[in-house]
Amino acid sequence: MMKLISIVVPVYNEEDNIRHFYEAICKVMQELPYDWELVFVDDGSRDRSWEILQEMEQSDSRVQPIQLSRNMGHQLALTCGMDYAEGDAVITMDGDMQHPPELLPVLIHEWEQGFEIVQTVRKTTEGVSWAKNFSSNGFYWLLNHISDTHIIEGGSDFRLMDAKVVRAFRHYREHVRFIRGMISEMGYRQTTIEFVAPPRFAGESKFSLKKMFRLAVDGVLAYSSFPLRFGLYVGMLCACISVLIFLHVLYVTYIGGDAERGWPTIIGCIVFFGGVQLMTLGIIGVYIGRIFEEVKRRPLYLVEREKPTARRRMREENQ
Ligand code: UDP
Ligand code: MG
Repeated sequence: MMKLISIVVPVYNEEDNIRHFYEAICKVMQELPYDWELVFVDDGSRDRSWEILQEMEQSDSRVQPIQLSRNMGHQLALTCGMDYAEGDAVITMDGDMQHPPELLPVLIHEWEQGFEIVQTVRKTTEGVSWAKNFSSNGFYWLLNHISDTHIIEGGSDFRLMDAKVVRAFRHYREHVRFIRGMISEMGYRQTTIEFVAPPRFAGESKFSLKKMFRLAVDGVLAYSSFPLRFGLYVGMLCACISVLIFLHVLYVTYIGGDAERGWPTIIGCIVFFGGVQLMTLGIIGVYIGRIFEEVKRRPLYLVEREKPTARRRMREENQ
């Protein structure tokens, strides 16, 4: 039995892309000594995408369409596809040709070399506005400065994962998710490959500014409890400043002589109590941060090696 490669593709209103994408995949995959399946996750499309997928399923049993009940967003569509994919390796990619299918043999080659996660990094996107590149770079800079995980700049959701990684990933059940960060934090043997993203084959980007902003906020909030601790730091700073003000008050009262009556003391008190309040808020923030980490119910550890399951043993014996 040949090893199976699953290709997971989220689809949202891509009627003009699907067939072209499918043909490109067929062309690339027929050169490789693997069985493959194409798991399309229709993320609540309102155009003809779902009909096209069903037609394709009729004519090619390697096409496995799944339809979500409504538009759940790219990250959840990807998650759904990874839950269903059965391959020994799972590749996630976009269906608009911006993740070039010609790169599949390269990803698979790295996997054959023993890498369990092959992450691609977008160097530049052809024909993308200066503003989009700028905001994307700024976002990664911010994220890497306030969170503990390092997330590669320009990292995309075009990657190959070994079945082991996918099985582990299924234990992560948080609702708000930023898959790039989660995968990079998982460990395992990872490597990266650079590519230049071509413009979309057809249609328009489904990521409005609003959706991109939401993804960025999700990335920051899911990867960092820094915003919650912010009050603590500002509060400590205020407390220190108030001490300086009080020292000034003591100095002008007892040594300097040239005392302005009253106001430095009042300012000192305001800064001091402001600081105390912010610190208290910050402490509450720290606890909420802990609650936040716990309610995610993430797995405590991920296993690198384990006894093969019955299904996998059978598959390997049949090879
Ligand atoms: N997509 C999705 N659900 C959404 C938005 C996008 O499944 O709510 C899919 C879309 O069909 C495409 C991929 O996610 O296959 C990437 O979207 P897009 O190309 O619009 O993003 P961009 O490349 O502009 O970042
Ligand atoms: Mg795209």
